[in-house]
Amino acid sequence: MQDLKPKWNAVLNKIESEVTAVSFDLWIKTLEPIDIVDGKLIIMSPTTGAKNQLLKLHSEKLKTAIEAVFENITEFVVLDPAEKNEFFQNKEVIRNTEETVSIKEPILPKNALNEKYSFDSFVVGKSNQFVYAAARSVAEEPGLKYNPLFIYGGVGLGKTHLLHAIGNFMKHNSSNLKVLYTTCENFTNDYISSLRSSKDSSNSLFRGKYRNVDVLMVDDIQFISRAERTQEEFFHTFNDLYQNNKQIIICSDRHPKDIATLQDRMVSRFTSGLIQDIQQPDYETRLAILQKKVQIEKFNVNNNVLEFIAKNIDSNIRELEGVLSKVIFYAGLLGKKEATIEEAKEALKEHITTTKEKITADGIMERVCKYYNVSRTDMVGKKKNKEIVDPRQVCIYLICTLLEDLPLAAIGNMFGGRDHTTIIHARDKIAGGIKSNYTLSTTISDLIAMIKTEN
Ligand code: ADP
Ligand code: MG
Repeated sequence: MQDLKPKWNAVLNKIESEVTAVSFDLWIKTLEPIDIVDGKLIIMSPTTGAKNQLLKLHSEKLKTAIEAVFENITEFVVLDPAEKNEFFQNKEVIRNTEETVSIKEPILPKNALNEKYSFDSFVVGKSNQFVYAAARSVAEEPGLKYNPLFIYGGVGLGKTHLLHAIGNFMKHNSSNLKVLYTTCENFTNDYISSLRSSKDSSNSLFRGKYRNVDVLMVDDIQFISRAERTQEEFFHTFNDLYQNNKQIIICSDRHPKDIATLQDRMVSRFTSGLIQDIQQPDYETRLAILQKKVQIEKFNVNNNVLEFIAKNIDSNIRELEGVLSKVIFYAGLLGKKEATIEEAKEALKEHITTTKEKITADGIMERVCKYYNVSRTDMVGKKKNKEIVDPRQVCIYLICTLLEDLPLAAIGNMFGGRDHTTIIHARDKIAGGIKSNYTLSTTISDLIAMIKTEN
């Protein structure tokens, strides 16, 4: 068998810069390529938990890296130790496994609904009771009450979960309805490829797909930006469905009014329906969510461990889950039957060090400098020409917006000891500009997306 190590190391190098250090250490570095069968790369993971986490969190990245490094690999499959033994006993099992990830196809078919995300697995608390009620009502009676339904809230608070829950509910209870879940990104990509495709010269395939549905759900609409044509297409898709009483559900990380790139006519369409926010969960809800996860995944974790996690992680539910999985993973490594507070403390320590690496003023400046090709010296210096002043003001605006807690004086210091009134002036100038200047607003939302994904 060929030596897979050198190529595998290249795969690791590619992924390392794209995931958090914890993720890399826990789920990726621990992988081992063991064979290639029929163009299928066989990879081993040390535990079932690690395998599941990997596939859940990083299969897309793994796919891209494998595709870039290996030629002639069309699929990969990750095996846990039991599956590996089975594989060594009989390589044929690989031919029948349904768990392979295809390199050439998107991981989830674009309309795939994740069965895991149901109303049953969604814990209702004060922070999300209204949005839950709205989602339920739309799922039961699509097109009748809240149309469009616009859900917004910070990352990891359950928006995508709710969209899938609505879709799954309809699939089971009104299976005659055509339900389409998509992300803003997929919608955009689809549209662009339909423009390019000679087979779809009049975009009729594209339109057939998006306008021929009873329910359209679009996730992460805040990424609508760039091309005006895409937005135009979205606008017409929306109108077409709306006029035919089809249900539209949209998610975003912020209120439509605050999506800089969203055209006013779209904002007013969205505000004509129900706009419902989803908030940070309180302690009781966080604990209930952890208990539910433990019950669903059949994890063995003492309740005081869950209380400890719920007390210490108050940001979002994805992080709550992340820490819980780490706890389970550590307990597994130590061969413990039940996860204890020891592992929880360890996991939390890791969590705190990695979240510290999040967005910083310095990181923002670096990104803006790169974007405009301006040196740091000029960025914080005294030059007054437009090529420098514009990026500088954008940078100040982004720091003020993305790091709300940072005192203006500290930002002033960063920019060569500028006065806080200068900082306010720059910030407000850009904030005003975004409203009237489409190019500027697109730039800003691109930059925000880049800064967020780099972290
Ligand atoms: P968002 O789309 O808002 O960024 P997600 O819907 O992806 O967040 O949620 C992140 C994770 O948290 C998912 O695994 C989801 O199942 C879980 N989650 C969020 N809210 C709840 C809830 N109320 N009950 C149970 N799990 C939740
Ligand atoms: Mg989401």
